[in-house]
Amino acid sequence: NEDLVQLDPQISELIDLELKRQQDTLEMIASENFAPVAVMQAQGSVLTNKYAEGYPGKRYYGGCEYVDQVETIAIERLKQLFGAEFANVQPHSGAQANASVMHALIKPGDTILGLNLAHGGHLTHGMKINFSGRLYNVAAYGVSEDTHVIDMDEVERIAQESQPKLIIAGWSAYPRQLDFARFREIADSVGAYLMVDMSHFAGLVAAGLHPNPVPHAHVTSTTTHKTLGGPRGGVILTNDADIAKKINSAVFPGQQGGPLEHVIAAKAVAFGVALSDGFKDRQERTLRGSKILAERLSQQDVQDAGISVLTGGTDVHLNLVDLRHSALDGQQGEDLLHEVGITVNRNAVPFDPRPPMVSSGLRIGTPALATRGFDDDAFSEVADIIAQALVIGAQRAAANEDNGNAASDATNDLES
Ligand code: PLP
Repeated sequence: NEDLVQLDPQISELIDLELKRQQDTLEMIASENFAPVAVMQAQGSVLTNKYAEGYPGKRYYGGCEYVDQVETIAIERLKQLFGAEFANVQPHSGAQANASVMHALIKPGDTILGLNLAHGGHLTHGMKINFSGRLYNVAAYGVSEDTHVIDMDEVERIAQESQPKLIIAGWSAYPRQLDFARFREIADSVGAYLMVDMSHFAGLVAAGLHPNPVPHAHVTSTTTHKTLGGPRGGVILTNDADIAKKINSAVFPGQQGGPLEHVIAAKAVAFGVALSDGFKDRQERTLRGSKILAERLSQQDVQDAGISVLTGGTDVHLNLVDLRHSALDGQQGEDLLHEVGITVNRNAVPFDPRPPMVSSGLRIGTPALATRGFDDDAFSEVADIIAQALVIGAQRAAANEDNGNAASDATNDLES
């Protein structure tokens, strides 16, 4: 029973270095967060040793008396958190939760309708080489070119045209709230199921700072590690008993074998945290920090550098910085902020003229810093640092472009 340092110093050292990286940089990747130590203790517990195929009270393995209780607590807390009647806490990840929903409700070859990946959708909402694009026929809606907001009349038109069996509302990169009631109306009008994937904004929903999709959707899926701040994983919610049955058998044995009871214990701890007052305060700071960033990135100096935030602001925990009219591209912006100790990810923006590996956008989120205790003043300071860095970066990139053009003009002159 050697500990990690003795048994595997190489991995132990890398974990220490990662801890230092997390402590010494400002984490602004919108999908990341810091799980509480208690969550990591549960995840690192002896529950990792246990097989428990099946569900509480109906297992295919003996010795499940304690993990049954753990899983039941996780289910009950999750139902309470989102006001749902049924919950499945076993999906190993958000992608597996979505695969299970599709497995439960539709058949290969059926049409699914989700938000275009290039406009902020997720891989599992119909990307060509993802299981969702391989198994199902994909139709997609996007954002409108002038407002960058999803046009619900257009969603309706595409739904009528493509006759999907499943409509997916949810996103990985979109700064506004969705109209869940209208999505449900459209789904009903074409006889489709509505799945809301609230992976990104689940924490805001839990805190009452974002409309709750659960009453509108046939099924709601979410990851547990983004704004929700728990262990990496997925869960599925529904208010419909028949759908709940189908979901349970699609998760196990449809998509997975033994559930990760250590992760389920960590989910239970995280849901307990999410039910507390402190969680609400943290989500409020997350949202205010995001709005502070949007305001700073809309000021004149930033506009003058050809930089703006998509849709002119945000309703959620992230901003999408639009660099299409700036000499600075997404890759350069990501690298530049990395140099000043701020971690973000580049992200294609809708109608992006640059290739995806470079892109013309940055996705900047506030959940992890809010978990670290950032308040409005701290967020104002970091917003100002980001704004100044991007303005300087854009000026330098423009100067480089001019030099490059001058150099190539000179070469052309020499050649001619
Ligand atoms: N759904 C959405 C909207 C997401 O943004 C993500 C993660 O990026 C997922 C699903 C997938 O989650 P995971 O990475 O746990 O598979």
